[in-house]
Amino acid sequence: MRVLIVEDEQRLADDLKRTLTAQNYVVTHSKDGEDAWFRGDTEDFDLVILDLGLPRMDGFSVLKRWRANGRGMPVLILTARDSWRDKVDGIDSGADDYLTKPFRMEELIARVRALLRRAVGQSSPVLSNGDVEIDTRLRTVTYRGMPVSVTPLEYRLLTYLMHHPGKVFSPAEISAHIYEEDIDRDSNAVEVVIARLRRKLGGPLIENRRGQGYFIPAEGQR
Ligand code: CA
Repeated sequence: MRVLIVEDEQRLADDLKRTLTAQNYVVTHSKDGEDAWFRGDTEDFDLVILDLGLPRMDGFSVLKRWRANGRGMPVLILTARDSWRDKVDGIDSGADDYLTKPFRMEELIARVRALLRRAVGQSSPVLSNGDVEIDTRLRTVTYRGMPVSVTPLEYRLLTYLMHHPGKVFSPAEISAHIYEEDIDRDSNAVEVVIARLRRKLGGPLIENRRGQGYFIPAEGQR
């Protein structure tokens, strides 16, 4: 899952980045409204954490422009304490949820998980499909009830496909959602990671559609 953090306070941005990376999200950071608007408009993010007071373009304008252009990713806004006006305006501008500064990172993470689930119509923090289950709170994977050890990259790929059952993704689309921007991708190409996951998870979970890409069939689609 790829998350865009838009925050001009460097220390908070660093904290957010560290927390989300530790939770296995792929994180991109943007420090001003214009850069954020451009990235959100041209790149594919699963979720955005958006501060409202930003240099060059304020958060409300960024959000309104995305929504006007049909960009529908979930957006969590960060508002100043006691500013009910910001919350109302933010939600009217198209935000899905808000957090008031200062906040606990635990609360942020819980809200991020809930927004990602809701965006794909899932209400439970446990994703299950066939014999495989992922607990997104603990970041654990089980196969037929037995724990399976997966690398962070394998976890990100599996979670991404499990969040979108039945949807086919090209290797390039998958790459965009699971790799840190500066990682060496060669030895960890999407195909290689999928082959490893298939071995660990008993084979048939991840399927491919020739010339199009990979998918995990929805329950009942097998
Ligand atoms: Ca700010």
